[in-house]
Amino acid sequence: MKRIIFLPFDHLHQNYGALKGADPKSDLIVLVESARMTTGRNWHKERLFFLISSARHFAQSLELEGFTVDYLKAATTVDGLKSVLKKHKGLPIICAEPSSFRQFAALKECGVEFVDNDFFLTPRPLFKAWADTQKSYLMESFYRKQRVRLNILMDGKEPAGGAWNFDKENRLPPPKKYDGPKYLEHKRDEIDAQVAKELGYEMRTTWATTRQGALKQLKNFIDNHFGEFGPLEDAMTTDNWALHHSLLSPYLNNGLLHASEVITAAVKAFNGGSIPIESAEGFIRQVIGWREYVNGMYWFLGPDYRENNQLMANRKLLPLFNEPAATQMNCIKETVGDIQERAWVHHIPRLMLLSNLALVTGTNPQEFLEWMREVFIDATEWVMVPNVIGMGVHADGGQMMTKPYAAGGAYISRMSNYCKPCVYNPKLRTGETACPFTTLYWDFLDRHKETFAKNHRMSQQVFGLNRLSDLPELKIRAKEVLKGLEQGTI
Ligand SMILES: Cc1cc2nc3c(=O)[nH]c(=O)nc-3n(C[C@H](O)[C@H](O)[C@H](O)COP(=O)(O)OP(=O)(O)OC[C@H]3O[C@@H](n4cnc5c(N)ncnc54)[C@H](O)[C@@H]3O)c2cc1C
Ligand code: SF4
Repeated sequence: MKRIIFLPFDHLHQNYGALKGADPKSDLIVLVESARMTTGRNWHKERLFFLISSARHFAQSLELEGFTVDYLKAATTVDGLKSVLKKHKGLPIICAEPSSFRQFAALKECGVEFVDNDFFLTPRPLFKAWADTQKSYLMESFYRKQRVRLNILMDGKEPAGGAWNFDKENRLPPPKKYDGPKYLEHKRDEIDAQVAKELGYEMRTTWATTRQGALKQLKNFIDNHFGEFGPLEDAMTTDNWALHHSLLSPYLNNGLLHASEVITAAVKAFNGGSIPIESAEGFIRQVIGWREYVNGMYWFLGPDYRENNQLMANRKLLPLFNEPAATQMNCIKETVGDIQERAWVHHIPRLMLLSNLALVTGTNPQEFLEWMREVFIDATEWVMVPNVIGMGVHADGGQMMTKPYAAGGAYISRMSNYCKPCVYNPKLRTGETACPFTTLYWDFLDRHKETFAKNHRMSQQVFGLNRLSDLPELKIRAKEVLKGLEQGTI
């Protein structure tokens, strides 16, 4: 053997990263399942099951291709690598640039040599070159550049369909009694069964753990969901847990799928004429826009960004985040229940329910971030940090988003079917049946009115606040709500 190739659990693709051009005759492949990863935190078991089983399946597929693979268990990744180096003295270790600051630092210490991380469509220096020229880092301007640079959905120099953005068409509430096509179930094998046994977990069939399964999921999305993705993108309903979302983020994030494969399939389907522009643009924006932007921002903003707490939010994590029975808020009860079942909900519950609640209750951003990291199947550091700290709870003082995504019950009522059976009324801001979101939205604006008065994008909200005649009563109700949320009675 001439080289050791180290594969983190999110580099599982043969054509990218350090495996690109690898040679079974001279490269030893190493994967490390660390105890820090499996037992270090209160990870959702579905997430651990997915990550470990995917890595073991991938290791097996490399062996079938003739590679020598050392899949080892160790206390930490670094301990694992040290033991490999002891066995293979003098061999260089190669790895593609890791996906978090912490892993970068740890691997550097072991003398790992890095090759480019090409698991994204935008090299880190290219993103930095864009960000360096911006006054405010608007995703929309990055996304338009991406469309032109990658020549996706372009008619010459103009955007296909005559507009860059079809968001207006993509904000429909959920239809009544919505079934939609069935979701894929993924068959399990002996590797899955072994991982589940080790974790003491009863396997589900929601998520694939192989490249073939991930490709099936992509095909299922393109054939059965892509056409309707756009209009219902922001809707939430108890009738259908994922509507037309692709369910591809876990595979994009652990390497089983590459963004270019997803985009090629999407563009091909759109060119075939069966996909409306609002769905095609809406989905492609997520992958070449949001995903690349968030990754770029993670590296651009630096390792200290995750510690931001500019709104000085210091409330402890509320019990309802771990226990749906600790709240009567139907939207939160349903959402946390869904997360416990599948380790996934789509971006609107993540943003407008969970993060919104953390924001308006003044929950400590780092505590909330750690919880989000633990419970979602697709939660890797690079994607969670900007989404939570910047977009979700505005803890960065507006570095990423120009205004906070705070909303009262009216938005949730419009975009979901949660409110009808709820004990609270989204229209009310005071009184015992007032919706906690509605009460706390105004209370949040009031608590931070001096900060927001300087932000012209918040002027309408601050104007609305100044016109409230029942603010003193509302402040009293807000106190009761916060106490009730802490005690698990609201
Ligand atoms: C507070 C918050 C936390 C989030 N945390 C994560 C996370 O830990 N991991 C994660 O992959 N996504 C995260 N997202 C983004 C988004 O919610 C998920 O990518 C999406 O719900 C995954 O389901 P899907 O594959 O069906 O996505 P679709 O709705 O089908 O979108 C397609 C793809 O676009 C990408 N994408 C869309 N929005 C974003 C975004 N804001 N940031 C990065 N990629 C995006 C994802 O790769 C996704 O698979 C978060 C969003 C918010 C608001
Ligand atoms: S009334 Fe308020 S708490 Fe109840 S489901 Fe609607 S938004 Fe959620």
